[in-house]
Amino acid sequence: MTVKINIVNAALPLRDESRLYSLTAEDGKWTAISKQSGELAQPGAVALDDWDGAEPADGRLTLDAKGSIALPGFADAHMHLDKSFSLPKVGNVSGTLEEAVQNYAAAAPGFGKEEIKARMMRAALQSIACGTTALRSHLDFHVKHGPEVALRTVEAALEVKAMLAPYADLQLFPMIPYYDLTEKALEIAAEAVSMGVTGLGGAPHLSPTPEADIDRIMALADRLGCPVDLHADESDDPSVRTAAHIARRTKEYGWSGKVAVGHLCSLAAMPDADAEPIIRQLAEAGVGAVTLPGANLYLQGRRDRHPVRRGVTRVKELLAAGIPLAAASDNIHDPFHPFGRGDLLLIGLVTAYAAHMGSPADMRAVLRMITANPAAVMGLHGYGMEVGNDADFVILDAATPEELFAMVPERRWVWRRGRCLKAAARRAEWSVSRLRHYWEDATERVRFRQPTQVNA
Ligand SMILES: [Zn+2]
Repeated sequence: MTVKINIVNAALPLRDESRLYSLTAEDGKWTAISKQSGELAQPGAVALDDWDGAEPADGRLTLDAKGSIALPGFADAHMHLDKSFSLPKVGNVSGTLEEAVQNYAAAAPGFGKEEIKARMMRAALQSIACGTTALRSHLDFHVKHGPEVALRTVEAALEVKAMLAPYADLQLFPMIPYYDLTEKALEIAAEAVSMGVTGLGGAPHLSPTPEADIDRIMALADRLGCPVDLHADESDDPSVRTAAHIARRTKEYGWSGKVAVGHLCSLAAMPDADAEPIIRQLAEAGVGAVTLPGANLYLQGRRDRHPVRRGVTRVKELLAAGIPLAAASDNIHDPFHPFGRGDLLLIGLVTAYAAHMGSPADMRAVLRMITANPAAVMGLHGYGMEVGNDADFVILDAATPEELFAMVPERRWVWRRGRCLKAAARRAEWSVSRLRHYWEDATERVRFRQPTQVNA
């Protein structure tokens, strides 16, 4: 049976905002996306707000989005699903990155596979419920405790990936140790790749020999034919500059689009004149970048007396250089970062605060940082709301990006391959019941409307 959904009156803020759209998906792919001349009164359409999420028996469904925003499914390009929700077991008294790394490494051998799977599932499912349909997780890979500890996490992650496959794409990057990068460690990493992880990760800026480590990780990736995603320069020290070396090697290998760097905090700690050439090198080499504003606002600047640095990379400069820059969750309720719930819209809002991005054009750029940009960083195929692509998308209870970031709406409808994974409760059920009458009247009167123009 063909499953066909038709959604009318959807707002697509990353396209033409002066119009509403009709969207059609058949058997999981977009088959039509067309601009409407005005608001459509489609006979037989069910108002999204009245829909309980059930598919009709004949597989045909027409919904009226009533001007709500539809975005491609969010893509979270940098997570640590295996560490998520470990905070009750692994604390961090000082709140520094160093203590987080130390405490987690000491606790790692004690985590069983089922526990790791349960933590990964919880974080992933929460993310999916918030609208994310593609996730990239780095994985703890502590070979110093023996290969079984490192490979236990890999096995857990691969099982979670298989379980989640109908609901989201999950990419996995084991973090090659930054201390004592032995041949044995590289061998075990190669084994992880043969088991099915996506590519190689690591945090070479923490190594005493960062450039040599980067060269060896890249050489292994070359041999295995897999992508590379490195934590880079997560430090307030402006002399930490592994990003430049990663860019150099990426260019030499001709790996544009295959290499990503996360954090880049030291870029924000150095003067413009030093940061500019590094940003240029990253752009020229085609390296993708990820900012993790939640974790870095929390972890960085810990040794500063006032003024205290904020640790978030140069978001506007990286975007201006044409680098695909994603905003991502990083850690969730673990010793690295006690907050978060896998909601990329919330991470977008934190990005907007941290990078001073509140203009109309900025807000739309932030939306790209949780959709198209991470899709580019992750090398996703068939991503985005174009005919022929996968119908992975989220509809949110907001009419404009301004409303989206002001309200960070709870009410979302999440779709994967044209099937609804999560529908929102009706507005009337969700609102405060005793005040419902006033609430409905007030929300109708104070509505966010389609903007007539957006400043570039
Ligand atoms: Zn990370």
